[in-house]
Amino acid sequence: MPVDTAARGDFDQALGAENVISDLARLRSYECDGLTGYRVVPSLVLLPHTAEQVTAAVRVCAAHAIPFVARGAGTGLSGGALPVADGVVISVARLRRVIEVDPVDRRASLEPGVTNLDITRAAAPHGLYYAPDPSSQQVCTIGGNVAENSGGAHCLKYGFTTNHVLAMEVVLADGSVVTLGGDTGEQAGPDLRGVFLGSEGTVGIATSITVRLLRTPETVRTLLADFPSVSAAGEVVSDIVAAGIVPAAVEMMDTLAIEAAEAAVHAGYTLGTPAALVVELDGPAEECDGQFEQVKAICEKHGCTRLHIAGDAEERAAIWRGRKSAFAAVGRISPDYFVQDGVVPRTRLAEVLSRIAAMGDAVGLRVANVFHAGDGNLHPLVLYDAAAGETERAEKLSGQIAELCVELGGSLSGEHGIGTDKACSMPKMYGEVDLEVMRRVRGAFDPAGLCNPGKLLPTPRLCGERPGKFRPHPLEQSGVIERL
Ligand SMILES: Cc1cc2nc3c(=O)[nH]c(=O)nc-3n(C[C@H](O)[C@H](O)[C@H](O)COP(=O)(O)OP(=O)(O)OC[C@H]3O[C@@H](n4cnc5c(N)ncnc54)[C@H](O)[C@@H]3O)c2cc1C
Repeated sequence: MPVDTAARGDFDQALGAENVISDLARLRSYECDGLTGYRVVPSLVLLPHTAEQVTAAVRVCAAHAIPFVARGAGTGLSGGALPVADGVVISVARLRRVIEVDPVDRRASLEPGVTNLDITRAAAPHGLYYAPDPSSQQVCTIGGNVAENSGGAHCLKYGFTTNHVLAMEVVLADGSVVTLGGDTGEQAGPDLRGVFLGSEGTVGIATSITVRLLRTPETVRTLLADFPSVSAAGEVVSDIVAAGIVPAAVEMMDTLAIEAAEAAVHAGYTLGTPAALVVELDGPAEECDGQFEQVKAICEKHGCTRLHIAGDAEERAAIWRGRKSAFAAVGRISPDYFVQDGVVPRTRLAEVLSRIAAMGDAVGLRVANVFHAGDGNLHPLVLYDAAAGETERAEKLSGQIAELCVELGGSLSGEHGIGTDKACSMPKMYGEVDLEVMRRVRGAFDPAGLCNPGKLLPTPRLCGERPGKFRPHPLEQSGVIERL
């Protein structure tokens, strides 16, 4: 049922009519997130400026049984912020105040719309930084990062968002406000903070978040190395880890990804090389320098064809510019693409990449690869041309790649989340009992199912099963077959 005039009046009163978007042209700006293949125009978009207004908006939703979807910057790649038909979007992008930076306890308190990079900008004068660094860090919000349990190139050494969030203030679907976690991170009882982390907006809306800050490392050493094959680069990754070294980051790009990145940002990668690795070490200078020599030797042992060591901050930034621009840059070599986000055990990297290439060849589509090699988190980019009618084939291939990752002992998602995109694939990874437990946990927070419904967990309606009560098959009714 669309939002009726009584509810509309209540939203206007709670937020001010100027903060309630209802005209179609403006609503369309919110019809999708970074997964642009799915689009739903919401009934309304609400633009609160304060935590109190977020709470007031959720209370109106609860009173009128209106489903709602929280939205940060809308950069999510799994359709998590996709609106719900007849529901509202609650954008927290205007809540972007850094509430406090506490350099002594190394913490920052933030409103949910603060961008990831702005946390480090606020902490930097104190010699501190915020470690998780999604490639979208210039625009994505800490609220979105928390909801997706986002990762980034440096999560290999430092862990994902969940390892850096101490506490949150959250508005639940009934409009009550709770604090999850605490300033020390450790709380008695079940880890409800952990339940919220990665719940993809299905448990409530975070209105303030306290994160841990780290001391800026004394030294950072970065290299870019080319290899004659993806498997040679994969062996380097395994050998680095086997040597007991924990790099800050190990990222891999293949020929197509490099071609795209170079066309966009001219970062100095070698065109045509089958594989390139970015390896970064950080920490105390003495330890870092010693390990860096070991990494160089491992690269050389595996036939590295070019080794470029960043000589200064500018060269390091150029290497990272190439890597971090890669998704968006793929637009330079293909009109359309799907970004996949599966995980495989590191030891199966070479195998999975060759199987992905074969699957792409079999259906006549190119697949570029740029990924977090250190933790086996792949980002195959399936390139296609929607105008040439290739969408369905590309979508199918992308889904098959995710399921291949599960088959090889990995996961459907490393960091981009399940969202709308992969909810129907969850039964490939979890049994019915696991899924039922997840549904019950979610239901404990949101019994009415108003908070980002249809995301993360499979539902019969969205996954193509027949909805409604059990009905016997006509052949059963006529006595031709019987149910055992
Ligand atoms: C070019 C590009 C590169 C990327 N690189 C990475 C990467 O390296 N690593 C990575 O992990 N991701 C990456 N992403 C994906 C994306 O940026 C992250 O998932 C990010 O955390 C989303 O943040 P957002 O503010 O855009 O959230 P949105 O897309 O607006 O929302 C994402 C989810 O969070 C929920 N949500 C938003 N705010 C709140 C809140 N305050 N409370 C509760 N729920 C909320 C939404 O309902 C939705 O389910 C990339 C995306 C792009 C486009």
